[in-house]
Amino acid sequence: MMVRTLDDADVRGRRVLVRVDLNVPMENGRVSDATRIERILPTIQEIAGEGGRVVLLAHFGRPKGKRTVEDTLRPVGEELARHLGQPVAFAEDCVGEPAAHAVAALKDGEVLLLENTRFHAEEEKNDPDFAKQLAALGDLYVNDAFSAAHRAHASTEGVARLLPAYAGRTMEAELAALSKGLEAPEHPVVAIVGGAKVSTKIDLLENLVGRVDALVIGGGMANTFLNAIDIGIGRSLCEKSLAPTAQRILERARETGCAIILPVDGVVANEFKAGAPHHTYGVDAIPSNGMILDIGSQSVDRVKAAIDDAKTVVWNGPLGAFEIAPFDQGTVAAARHAAARTKAGKLVSVAGGGDTVAALNHAGVAQDFTYVSTAGGAFLEWLEGKSLPGVEALKTRG
Ligand code: AMP
Repeated sequence: MMVRTLDDADVRGRRVLVRVDLNVPMENGRVSDATRIERILPTIQEIAGEGGRVVLLAHFGRPKGKRTVEDTLRPVGEELARHLGQPVAFAEDCVGEPAAHAVAALKDGEVLLLENTRFHAEEEKNDPDFAKQLAALGDLYVNDAFSAAHRAHASTEGVARLLPAYAGRTMEAELAALSKGLEAPEHPVVAIVGGAKVSTKIDLLENLVGRVDALVIGGGMANTFLNAIDIGIGRSLCEKSLAPTAQRILERARETGCAIILPVDGVVANEFKAGAPHHTYGVDAIPSNGMILDIGSQSVDRVKAAIDDAKTVVWNGPLGAFEIAPFDQGTVAAARHAAARTKAGKLVSVAGGGDTVAALNHAGVAQDFTYVSTAGGAFLEWLEGKSLPGVEALKTRG
């Protein structure tokens, strides 16, 4: 791998600035889902275990450069301490006297959390002076927040240019999984892309048709493609103005030799509602007053066959309106099939972005995929083929 990792770092007795993702959901002042906290434990424990002094940097919410009561990281630090099983000191500010004082008080193996970096407008501007103030608090920098790596902010990019910089264990695992998914995958690679709209995924589709062997298009966005090739889709969700875009993507796929797998049938209802009366129709016979809310069983068979042919599957987006039964069935069947192939050692499966994690959890198979990224925006930008500033900064430091 191109980035430096903790294997290359000597942390004993040194102040290690660790950028983490602590942007956890809260309810009534308490952390309601600790997944992100759990994911950063290995890096913190490894550094502290080797006698490093851990100084955690993180953002929380969108305070837009102002100090707010709601966006303090203090309660998150308390939850982190419970998970770590050791105290986590807290500094009221991520720079200046409070931070310097708290860092100076740290002993080997201890952990300190600095207050929300986004309380300073300079964070999101990647202000060089602010990055310098952060860098002054550490001897080394470790980034374990892949989910924030698509942003060139002071705590993700600026500071990484000022200190010896390394990927944390969670970042390392994410990068290794993504590399297996798209950068250096075993072919054939099949991408499965669903979700509501083409408009949010144009860059992603264009990147994928140039890289994968087959592209399955499902969900609401498939309607835009069907409409673009003159198939009637009734009142289904569709971005009619994007017909030229869809045609361009299909044309590009012909050029690159990427097979496009569109639905051949759809589960149609008259209203977007759980349990709405429904029938399955071939795409040549969609009723003019109906809405396609899921792929039909013949389409599911085609998706399963594509998965059977693949050595690698990259997945983003549900194949239907998975939140409302029974229109979750196409997504669930395809997800379970990919999970079973993965479990059987026949497939590398990498998924993430938007509602994908929720859809795989709904299907009960997220744990059976090779890797499920919870990174959202960063995962999508990676699927779009963009370089991520936070990752780039880890590559170029000598
Ligand atoms: P995205 O965030 O772009 O991945 O889109 C996810 C959303 O797409 C989910 O809320 C699904 O309910 C919705 N969706 C998927 N398929 C359809 C469909 N055929 N008709 C309407 N909405 C859909």
